[in-house]
Amino acid sequence: MSVGVRVGIVGGGISGLSCAYYLGKAGIEATVFDPAPGGPIGTVVVEGCILETGPESWLAAKPWAEQLIRELGLGDELTGSNDAKRRTYVLRRGSFVTLPEGLQMVVPTRALPVLKSELFGWHTKVRMGLEIYRNPKAMPDRSVAAFVEDHFGAEAVDYLAEPLLAGVFGGSPQELSAASVLPKFVEYEQRYGSVVVGTFREKRKAAGGPVFKSLRRGLGTLIEALRDRVQVVPERVDSIVRTENGWRIEANADWHEFDRIVLACGANRSVPLIAPVDDLLAELLSTIPYTGSSIWTFGYRREDIRHPLDAFGFLVPKAERGAVMACTWLGTKWPGRVPEDEAVFRCFSTDPDVTREASQAELHRLMGITAQPIFAVNHRWPDSMPQYTVGHSFRVADIEARAGEIPGLHIIGNAYNGIGIPDCVRNARQVAEAIQAAE
Ligand SMILES: Cc1cc2nc3c(=O)[nH]c(=O)nc-3n(C[C@H](O)[C@H](O)[C@H](O)COP(=O)(O)OP(=O)(O)OC[C@H]3O[C@@H](n4cnc5c(N)ncnc54)[C@H](O)[C@@H]3O)c2cc1C
Repeated sequence: MSVGVRVGIVGGGISGLSCAYYLGKAGIEATVFDPAPGGPIGTVVVEGCILETGPESWLAAKPWAEQLIRELGLGDELTGSNDAKRRTYVLRRGSFVTLPEGLQMVVPTRALPVLKSELFGWHTKVRMGLEIYRNPKAMPDRSVAAFVEDHFGAEAVDYLAEPLLAGVFGGSPQELSAASVLPKFVEYEQRYGSVVVGTFREKRKAAGGPVFKSLRRGLGTLIEALRDRVQVVPERVDSIVRTENGWRIEANADWHEFDRIVLACGANRSVPLIAPVDDLLAELLSTIPYTGSSIWTFGYRREDIRHPLDAFGFLVPKAERGAVMACTWLGTKWPGRVPEDEAVFRCFSTDPDVTREASQAELHRLMGITAQPIFAVNHRWPDSMPQYTVGHSFRVADIEARAGEIPGLHIIGNAYNGIGIPDCVRNARQVAEAIQAAE
């Protein structure tokens, strides 16, 4: 076990905190600097409702967050989405249409629900059926829109890929990279030609269980558990300096000495910190663009809402979008989070400055809600969503290669090898293991 090595971590989102946790487990002293640990992950309780300030779950198929949670002793807190009521509406010509069952992201795996769906016209349905006859091919990286249109047609871009991905990546399918955002499907294309055929083969191996997982009392519980186990200095880092034997971090006019440093504060926030140390790395980091988002959460008396709320919520494709791009019906998706006599709507927008009035007006337009909410809570996340645009994997390779040339410097976070919580944990653990191996 290594002793005596000190690691300074800039940024205490899930990436920085979990890296510190794994380092601590290996006997390496780590200090996290962050004035607002957790990043967008946090939980508040309002009028008896458990509300998430940012993410509300993770993809159950990716095991790394769950492994960490179990290690932290929070296994009993794990909960799944209420998949008995798993249904999502998509707005089509002003009405809610059910997203066909059996979709794996943008890939249809069941014929009947697609054939019966009002979401697509016949042309798209025929395209989807014929997709299984494609030949394998390797293509250079291209946009998600080009990839999905090539396989399923333009309507699948507008009414599937765009609304599904905008909610996860906060970006446009015309700009996002297929290789980075849909890596599995790109691999299937190369191997089988058809992504439908590839998905079928994979599906046979897939385990059952809920699609999304979360924690009973909210994801804030995970941040609290990590904070209890790692050393956090609640200050912003103003500068970093390389010294003869390591690094120095300046926070609130104090200097702290470390042997190694981990930048876990996002590519955008790393740029001004690393620029005085290495111009080229700063330039490479600045090539990753960011967008922002906002969540308005409204609570109503259940009796004021006529809708049966028989789904997880709805998505609004860009062609029909006002202020809200997705809305979760919290009480339906997450049992136990909303008292029976309340109804809670979590309205997600890719405009961090969206107003309460505009969000409420959308609930009126789309769901006919005219009552006044009993509460309205806003969480803004400007410049928080790194965009995996076409060529992303090459940019990340350049960043990692350059960072690797600077002794004692490590870079982790959602900007590089996966935006979801499980990928952030995996990336953080790998870097902690690499540090341990190097000492
Ligand atoms: C609204 C929203 C909803 C999301 N929903 C989901 C979801 O449902 N499921 C899912 O898996 N993922 C979701 N994500 C993505 C996921 O939450 C993030 O990718 C992940 O939390 C990022 O973690 P991180 O530690 O890499 O970065 P961040 O959480 O952004 O952490 C970076 C930290 O660095 C700190 N920092 C910045 N500058 C400095 C400085 N100079 N000094 C010190 N500290 C600094 C910041 O305060 C911040 O805490 C969502 C993201 C958002 C914004």
